[in-house]
Amino acid sequence: VLIDRITSARLPGRPGLHDLRLAAGRVTSVEPAGSPGPQEQVLAAEGRVVAPAFVDAHVHLDKAHLLDAAEAAGPHDPRLGSAIAAVDRLRGQIPLHQVRVNAARALATLHRHGTVAARAHVELEPKGGLGLLELHLELQAEVAGRLDLELVAFPQLGLEPAGARDLLVSAMGEGATVVGGCPYVDDDPVAHLDAVFGLADRVGAPLDLHLDFTDDAACSHLDLVVERTRALDLGGRVTIGHVTTLAALGPDRQAAAFARLADAGIALVVLPATDLYLGGHGEPGTRSLAPVERAMAAGVTVAVATNNLANPFAPFGNGSLVQAAWLAGITRRMGDAAGRAQLLDAITAHPAAILGREAHGPGPGARADLVVLDTCDPEAAITQAPAVVATLHGGRRA
Ligand SMILES: [Zn+2]
Repeated sequence: VLIDRITSARLPGRPGLHDLRLAAGRVTSVEPAGSPGPQEQVLAAEGRVVAPAFVDAHVHLDKAHLLDAAEAAGPHDPRLGSAIAAVDRLRGQIPLHQVRVNAARALATLHRHGTVAARAHVELEPKGGLGLLELHLELQAEVAGRLDLELVAFPQLGLEPAGARDLLVSAMGEGATVVGGCPYVDDDPVAHLDAVFGLADRVGAPLDLHLDFTDDAACSHLDLVVERTRALDLGGRVTIGHVTTLAALGPDRQAAAFARLADAGIALVVLPATDLYLGGHGEPGTRSLAPVERAMAAGVTVAVATNNLANPFAPFGNGSLVQAAWLAGITRRMGDAAGRAQLLDAITAHPAAILGREAHGPGPGARADLVVLDTCDPEAAITQAPAVVATLHGGRRA
């Protein structure tokens, strides 16, 4: 249903109640509640908060809902290597049609929680060929109009297995639009970085790396990424996910790292449900979540994303970006007004920028990607983790 008017909405950062007019997929005006206007397809917010809809900058659909199967296959530790191995063991056992059912279920869950766009990392490994990419392309077509799905060619098991590099190149010609990478799984992470930067540069695609997922800051590849982003002039097109090494740095080195990221135009994605579960095994008090609030204050584009749903990488979490932001907010103690605003930006405007989407939300002229939240307090949009009662994609309610 194409909505042409939302009545009695509370908007973040704007006191009072408002009526929004929508046309051609955009918000055309914001007026005091009760203003005359079209009454054809009205969505009555009844005093609830209307916020920008959510954008998930980093999700894995092809290993969603594998927790039961992983547990049946044997024990796994809450550590990155163990989670990767647990899913790898299942790859040959779970038929593709079941992976598809699980992925479709995950997408439906994301949408139910107000997500209208997502960047999905598609696992590519030689033994599976392009099978998972084809599956994602079908899902992408199925959800079009409700959720815009962007696909990353992601070499989860590295580029060193025979055929892995060719597969990545093929995927970029077959529907993946972002080059992925995971340097920490290869024996030679520098060669991995050179390969994926080279490919992104050659095909003119953005690059999205899994990076520095360890408690040990000495293992960081951040400087190598900054150097290559500068050398190839890829500022604004490179994103790095996890980067839990940032949590292990002292304040001065953290500040220096954020200044370099902001200056180079490299965006950061934190995945609280995974970063906190699999990391932080070092010194007591280690929290293994990159400091969202300091990165944003330094001018870095930062997204909080879900990463995984019900698998060894994230046994906790329900696919809700509000929940992910809520967890980041507790972990980083972002309870003040500035922190609450940053958290909302980290699941709306910032990930939208990472995905190259135009501005969206309840402001005039913006794309009408909106959610109605089950709260009357805009300041509670994250802290109370309210349910999503309606989602609009381009003004359309699915
Ligand atoms: Zn990931």
